[in-house]
Amino acid sequence: MVNDGKAIWDKCLQIIKSEINPQAYKTWFEPIEPVRYDKKTLTIQVPNNFFYEWIEEHYVHLMKKALLEVIGSSAGLNYRILKAKQDVSNAVKIEKNTQIETESEKFKNPFVFPGIKKLKIDPNLNANYTFENYVEGDCNRLARNAGMAISKRPGGTAFNPLVIYGDVGLGKTHLAHAIGNEALKNNKNKQILYVSSEKFTNQIVHAIKNGEVEDFLNFYHQLDILIVDDIQFFANKTKTMDIFFHIFNQLHQDGKQLVLTSDRAPKDLEGMEERLISRFKWGLTADLQSPDFETRMAILDNKMNKEGIELPENVLEFICYNIKSNIRELEGVLVSLIAQSSLNNREIDLEITKEVVQKFVEQISKEVTINSIQELVAGHFNIGVDHLQSKSRKRNIVTARQLSMYFAKKHTNKSLKTIGETFGGRDHSTVIYSCKTVQDLMDTDKVFKDTVSDLEKKITMSLHAI
Ligand code: ADP
Ligand code: MG
Repeated sequence: MVNDGKAIWDKCLQIIKSEINPQAYKTWFEPIEPVRYDKKTLTIQVPNNFFYEWIEEHYVHLMKKALLEVIGSSAGLNYRILKAKQDVSNAVKIEKNTQIETESEKFKNPFVFPGIKKLKIDPNLNANYTFENYVEGDCNRLARNAGMAISKRPGGTAFNPLVIYGDVGLGKTHLAHAIGNEALKNNKNKQILYVSSEKFTNQIVHAIKNGEVEDFLNFYHQLDILIVDDIQFFANKTKTMDIFFHIFNQLHQDGKQLVLTSDRAPKDLEGMEERLISRFKWGLTADLQSPDFETRMAILDNKMNKEGIELPENVLEFICYNIKSNIRELEGVLVSLIAQSSLNNREIDLEITKEVVQKFVEQISKEVTINSIQELVAGHFNIGVDHLQSKSRKRNIVTARQLSMYFAKKHTNKSLKTIGETFGGRDHSTVIYSCKTVQDLMDTDKVFKDTVSDLEKKITMSLHAI
């Protein structure tokens, strides 16, 4: 058990860092300093009142989670606000982890920990993502309207499944939650579930290991609306696709609603079974495009209203002219600006905006290449990049090579052919085989899986350095 403030805060930071994007981490958490730790309560110092409020509003859940994990139940948090020179006591109180027992449920619910049972399924929806704050534009009109229609009459429209696809940061996850939230508002009794494809896959692995596949299927069959985010991750996971196919058919047949999101059009989902792709085409496939200038302005406006701030028109225009492709980046710039101006006690004007936008544009242009992946993985295995391209069959080299191919497939949009060529002229079937081997190893070997996640984090940090 760690008992000095710095060690405890460092542990919390590790947890926080793994859950939020690097820019947010840098902006809001690096300036914090631990002050003391006493009676299970950690006191941290924040630069000013604005920081305190922002953290309380946006990151309180994350802080709670980290403190609970590091200190345990009955952990407490105090803030010291530097400028105001005062302690705000007990700003976060962590409740005891009580177990709730209710009537037993028909099926084992993979979302509920043993000992805690609930009848109504927790839909797992983020209440901040609604239609009210999902700005409409040409870029999203079809998907948004179809989503609206579905939430009024789930299963009752021709849009079943609704497949929403588009590049990262264009609003797929937001829209998926908005559909769920709106449907819940219209009918409190509907069983709705939002699940990421990653979580779904993990649950299946767990169910198979424990002989609980039947329970798993029964649980999913109770749903009226199933929302699965980022289905591209199902690719090449045979067992997962199998089970999902089963659930899809059953729900669809019963007139239940399916909403799926993907980072590319169904037809471009390599490694996805044909029978699934053909099912996806039964309903409506709608894409999200990059927003045009007016929509970007409207989105920023909406965001500012939510945060209760106002910015000069020329500042807004400058941001919207320069940050074009990605809404997450647009929001990132705004948040950075707010933080910068509060730290430096400076009005947000065009000058400071230019500095912040400049930094963002530099980070965005740092795209992941096969070469950068090779360097990262080779570095991790302590071998040279040339080994990855060689014919060597040494075990660690083979593993490093397969891992690099797997990451190249996942994080660049290069074709299998090009990837193979970059690894000493191998052909596309070698790349497919490598991806499959990595996947199989991850499913069976926990240590290997952790290595993959660590490396993956490093890659995505450089990819979405926002
Ligand atoms: P994706 O899942 O496609 O990567 P997200 O749904 O996570 O994208 O969206 C990224 C950010 O952009 C979120 O904070 C989201 O609220 C915001 N966003 C996306 N589209 C809109 C929109 N039309 N109006 C307002 N905010 C949006
Ligand atoms: Mg998403």
